[in-house]
Amino acid sequence: MKESGRKNPITRRGFLELASATLATAGLAANANAETAAPGPQSASPATDPIPAAPHGKIALEEHFTLAEIIEDSYAVKDLPPETRSRILDLGAGRLADMDRGGLELCIISLTAPGIQSVPDTSRAVALARRANDHLAQNIAKNPHRLKGFAALPMQDPQAAAQELTRCVRELGFLGALVNGFSQVGTADSAVFYDLPQYRPFWATVQDLDVPFYLHPRLPLETRLQAYEGHPWLAGSPWGFAVETSIHALRLMGSGLFDEFPRLQIILGHLGEAIPHGIWRVDNRIRRSHLTLKAKRPLAAYLRENFYITTSGNFRTQALTDVLLEIGADRVLYSVDYPYEDVVEAQIWLDHCPISDADRIKIAHLNARKLLRL
Ligand code: MN
Repeated sequence: MKESGRKNPITRRGFLELASATLATAGLAANANAETAAPGPQSASPATDPIPAAPHGKIALEEHFTLAEIIEDSYAVKDLPPETRSRILDLGAGRLADMDRGGLELCIISLTAPGIQSVPDTSRAVALARRANDHLAQNIAKNPHRLKGFAALPMQDPQAAAQELTRCVRELGFLGALVNGFSQVGTADSAVFYDLPQYRPFWATVQDLDVPFYLHPRLPLETRLQAYEGHPWLAGSPWGFAVETSIHALRLMGSGLFDEFPRLQIILGHLGEAIPHGIWRVDNRIRRSHLTLKAKRPLAAYLRENFYITTSGNFRTQALTDVLLEIGADRVLYSVDYPYEDVVEAQIWLDHCPISDADRIKIAHLNARKLLRL
């Protein structure tokens, strides 16, 4: 049969929206979060509303924006369709409408990758972080019950990063930081990771402020892409992001950072960047091969006590089950990865994946409320 002969081809998104409508009509979609539904304009006739208009109380922590001045710098944005470009700039009505569509009561907004981290000139990085954070704060002030912020940080200068985080938390009301992987410092061909000794005073500030630090992916440097040669699709979000970010997170664990600052809390997206799946083998091989690390404990201990993991861009029950088995339901947080992922697809998945409703509600918002003190 010819595909072109169809009058109304069903797209993936259309299918999900239809499914959402059917489930909502059957009273199923609202069930998971019914007891904790956020106050707000309730739909007059939920039975006929294809997508519930009111927020359903979910909190999402990996939702991005960018500034018009750097939108061309972001590899994450420049190859995407025009509607994604306009979505990522929108911190007003368009974003709130998408949040309503996806049952999101509150989003913690952050600067998209690579953001500040790809600016080798330290003074430019410091100024850009400040502009991004001020712009975000001004927009949050217009909808303070729907939007909150994670600070962009000029990690090129650890002291400036600590000062900017302190300003963002104390003066702008931000809830923590989101940093896009290693920073280029001084020269474009440099990659500085935050387990290095010069970052210890920065981490002391993060622990003192008692806010989480979201370690978000970025692309490996162009000069260090040998493993991906001939396969550019592999270097980014399909796989390379998880490689880059998991190495960084394991470096933090292995460096003894969490022995020195045991109250630090790091957030990883994408159901843990493959670390939960691999952590037993990491510890097992360290032990059996008698490898020497600065860390005092098995790395799985830090994963369970110093990390939270979000569902951003990984709406897969098998992978979630693995995370639940490794670190437990108290450390899993909902996220979408807007505007790169679909708010409705994420919502339908979490609302209907076969886990207990007690765990579902923890993931949807209770854990975030506790961590972020909301
Ligand atoms: Mn993201």
